[in-house]
Amino acid sequence: MSHTAELIAVGTELLLGNIANTDAQMLSQGLSALGINVYYHTVVGDNPERLRAAVELAKSRADLILTTGGLGPTCDDLTKNVLAACFGKELVYNQEAEERCRAFFQKIGREMTTNNRQQFYMPEGATVFQNDWGTAPGCGFEADGVHIIMLPGPPRECKAMFTYRAVPYLQSLSEGTIVSRTLKLFGIGESGMESLLREKMNAMTNPTLAPYAKEGECELRITAKAENEDAARALIAPVEKELRELFGDKIYGADIPSLEAAVLALLKEKGLTLGSAESCTGGLIAKRMTDLSGASAVFRGGVVSYATEVKHTVLGVPEDLLEQYGAVSEPVARAMAEGARRVLGSDLAVSVTGVAGPDPDDRGNPVGLVYVGIATPEGTHVRELHAGNGRERVRTAAAHNAFDLVRRYCAGLEL
Ligand code: ATP
Repeated sequence: MSHTAELIAVGTELLLGNIANTDAQMLSQGLSALGINVYYHTVVGDNPERLRAAVELAKSRADLILTTGGLGPTCDDLTKNVLAACFGKELVYNQEAEERCRAFFQKIGREMTTNNRQQFYMPEGATVFQNDWGTAPGCGFEADGVHIIMLPGPPRECKAMFTYRAVPYLQSLSEGTIVSRTLKLFGIGESGMESLLREKMNAMTNPTLAPYAKEGECELRITAKAENEDAARALIAPVEKELRELFGDKIYGADIPSLEAAVLALLKEKGLTLGSAESCTGGLIAKRMTDLSGASAVFRGGVVSYATEVKHTVLGVPEDLLEQYGAVSEPVARAMAEGARRVLGSDLAVSVTGVAGPDPDDRGNPVGLVYVGIATPEGTHVRELHAGNGRERVRTAAAHNAFDLVRRYCAGLEL
């Protein structure tokens, strides 16, 4: 198995800044889950000389090269030709690729054009990655001691082709199986996590442990290599146990995409519904909940009560409370959550009121001060946050904390 990978994204659009190199982000994440280190990302335009130079450089410093883009039917799609030339390979016709492409066009009711033909030529000896999500196949081959993988550019295709074609291909190259498990944490900073784990991480070789910080959350990825999946999982289990003992209920899940996904699962399990009343988050909590399929079973709805008047008229927050304490206050967060629970008819409701910035509010409350509430059948609880600067950061922290309160309530943990 390769240990040093380089990604080469091909596309002038990327260099012009018309699109972001999201394929590289996805691939880097995927490769690191396989325990493969990515040392370089290169972006090069649709230019054969510069692509060739990029490949030569990559060859000199990586033993796995993944390219994205430039596999399609147009004349600027040159990745295969250049890569084949760099590694002294002929391009040979692949009939299955043509048949699949024909069937794809038939399915979408369109005629296949003659320029599609160049897509069916693959470097000799390559494992062809048939594309069930688009038309351009990818491939994997080895030459000059380097493994090369070519994937199509459109992100949806690139992701599917990586997951269902390239990963099994990479695993087949390896003598063992690599399995990773990602623990998700909320309520601890990356530096706090690292300082607790640094020595341990340095001493570990199999499994390895890698921390990642992600917008107010942290991840700990345990990656093990063994002769088969069960053996790899057996290596992971004691490390996971130890981490769970160390971090306790700060760990909200394993191999789960997000805090809200954990919340959704818990609400379903407990048969509870949720509503929200949001001020400075402007509907972010409702958006993040409803981004999840299956949210309708538990999420009743949300009120974006941005104006003070709306807090009063829609959520029933008493006017004297608003006057006495101001909109950004613990009593108002409490009344908002209780109001939302009543108005939306949900078992639980969360509320957010705070100062997202860039300026302090008219009562002089500092940027980043946020009150996050939860109303439950047993009572209401409010958490005070100091989320720092930057509107996005404050909003994200507020939404995270709202989900954390719901998770803790559902799991019977202290709020
Ligand atoms: P196609 O069969 O669609 O032509 P292709 O492999 O030739 O696939 P390109 O033509 O290079 O891919 O790119 C197609 C589209 O995919 C681009 O317009 C862009 O929207 C998207 N894309 C390409 N490369 C990337 C990348 N690295 N990250 C994100 N999106 C990308």
